[in-house]
Amino acid sequence: MRTPLIAGNFKMFKTAAETAAYVVELRGLLRDVNGVEVVIAPPSTSIQAAAVAAEGSPIGVGAQNIHWEREGAFTGEVSAGMVRAAGARFVIVGHSERRTLFGETNDTVNKKMNAVIAAGMTPIVCIGETLEQRDRNETLAVLDRQITEGLDGVTGEQLAAMVLAYEPVWAIGTGRNATPAQAGEAHFHIRQRLKQWFGLESAEHCRILYGGSVKPDNIAKLITQPDVDGALVGGASLDPKSFLAIIRGAAI
Ligand code: PEP
Repeated sequence: MRTPLIAGNFKMFKTAAETAAYVVELRGLLRDVNGVEVVIAPPSTSIQAAAVAAEGSPIGVGAQNIHWEREGAFTGEVSAGMVRAAGARFVIVGHSERRTLFGETNDTVNKKMNAVIAAGMTPIVCIGETLEQRDRNETLAVLDRQITEGLDGVTGEQLAAMVLAYEPVWAIGTGRNATPAQAGEAHFHIRQRLKQWFGLESAEHCRILYGGSVKPDNIAKLITQPDVDGALVGGASLDPKSFLAIIRGAAI
């Protein structure tokens, strides 16, 4: 049985003080919530404040991005070890905004994912097709390529402990989410491929989140799909009350 995971991606929103206040409110709201794991990924500058405010609570803290090198002349970047030292235990890797706006490829996703694992954290690796790719019936082939190239070299044991997020690009921040059937089809396909490439047991342990305009009113239907193990939530995670409603909707 996979414990559902709801992860909030704050994107470029919230200062350290705003993040700390958010965590204080959320941890109070979560007092009677069980059966679901919760992670927030604030901007890098807010990770430490989030981790301090979340100490002793069930809220895990993640980063939204890292560089794959340990250190060096990479102006503006932060390493996996640095975000870990600040309190992160998860890192979102290969978000579609990173792929489309900052030129990330399956190859850089692979390097970043390996750096996250080497630093003792859990990668949340994002995959998903664009609208053009869906219209050309390429969705499943795109997912296959993102998995084979992005997860190249991953062991079954590493796969079992990591998190994938299926995020159709056309559904992110658009208010247009995949139907439960569309999400279910993609998640089923991903799980089948993971079984084929990494073995049955590892594939059964790996959590696959859905992401793309998840809201309090659509999580319940999405989570009923057998291979949907939770959600990666952008906009609706910024308000603790709407995030709580999504968390409640996914709890088992
Ligand atoms: C995301 O940022 O990963 C995301 C899914 O955003 P939104 O929920 O706003 O579509």
